[in-house]
Amino acid sequence: MFERIERVPGDAILGLIQAFKEDTNPQKVDLGVGVYRDAEGNTPVMRAVKEAEARLLKNESTKTYIGSHGSPAYGDAVLPLVLGADSPVLEAGRASATQSPGGTGALRLAADFIAGELPGRGIWVSDPTWPNHHGLFTAAGIALHKYPYVDADNRLDFDGMLAAFNKIPEGDVVVLHACCHNPTGFDLSAEQWRTLLEVVRERRLLPLIDFAYQGFGQGLDEDAYGVRLFAEQLDEVLITSSCSKNFGIYNERTGCLIAVAKNAEQMENVRSQFAVVARENYSNPPAHGGAIVSEILHDPELAAVWRDELTEMRDRVNTLRQEFVKALDPYGLAEKYACVGEQRGMFSYTGLTPDQVDRLRDEFGIYMVRSGRANVAGFSRENLPYITRAIAVVNGV
Ligand code: PMP
Repeated sequence: MFERIERVPGDAILGLIQAFKEDTNPQKVDLGVGVYRDAEGNTPVMRAVKEAEARLLKNESTKTYIGSHGSPAYGDAVLPLVLGADSPVLEAGRASATQSPGGTGALRLAADFIAGELPGRGIWVSDPTWPNHHGLFTAAGIALHKYPYVDADNRLDFDGMLAAFNKIPEGDVVVLHACCHNPTGFDLSAEQWRTLLEVVRERRLLPLIDFAYQGFGQGLDEDAYGVRLFAEQLDEVLITSSCSKNFGIYNERTGCLIAVAKNAEQMENVRSQFAVVARENYSNPPAHGGAIVSEILHDPELAAVWRDELTEMRDRVNTLRQEFVKALDPYGLAEKYACVGEQRGMFSYTGLTPDQVDRLRDEFGIYMVRSGRANVAGFSRENLPYITRAIAVVNGV
């Protein structure tokens, strides 16, 4: 049977990582991978996480199953983080969290829930979006459609997005990035969220908000603006939260799917379906990451340490964005790449063309995805002069 199986090419980013490893250029720069980097180019374990793990190791008394919804303590910690400490949605008992293997696991739970319980509904993702959105919604058997997000001049195309939303069939699902849009870095303003809310409400669309970078854009609360607005103003919302980036626990696979329903009873009904889907996929989520997050967030002192570290990461990325644009000024390119200073999160759609990306790799050892998406955390004070000079060269300056 297996003789008929075709080999598929590996993930483009993994290929990029391999090529980077093999490159002998001492000045090589990796702007491809999707993890945070500090000034030394490392992705260290956060201090708060180390402390939480030390406590867990000391106090853990069992490794028994944690159930399909995961740890209740984790859910209790994450819901106020996402929806706000004094959220009227929590007050009304309209929301619950089902722990999942990362944000990806939460998206897959949502996808299977939609496919099974809301059959026939299409799902709409931004063009472009995180490529795995395509794969996992399609794998769940949902018809996938795209709405415009970036225009030909590499700017947020909010008018185009809105026009498309006005034509989406009633009852379809729309995937929104809460903040730090991956891959572009273009986020909606508060006003744009409010405008979008009206269309979503009018057309009775079901928002699925992907919240993978809380705290990486402007702040834990600021980044949650759209999520909280939609949860408070609409009867029904799905939210996928990930702790991979903001706790730096990528390989612990920690996230959750949050159901917001009209009332507590409907929420419990929806939630019960999440447990079915979780059981069919992987039974129980891994426990360790959720225990770390719960240990940190339930201890005000440790939570303060974590918040400071997260602020440090966010400030570093936002400062590097400004320094990148400033370093392009002498080449007359600051205006052309001003978008990098305005975008938020780890990634930027730089506007570099695939040909320019190829030249940066071949001539300078600077690696990024061919779409021109750069991981801004790969910049550093030391490599910015080199990167910006290379960008000037490929721009013919
Ligand atoms: N959504 C988006 C937009 C992402 O960028 C990512 C991570 N790259 C995820 C979801 C999934 O995150 P996790 O690693 O927690 O599965």
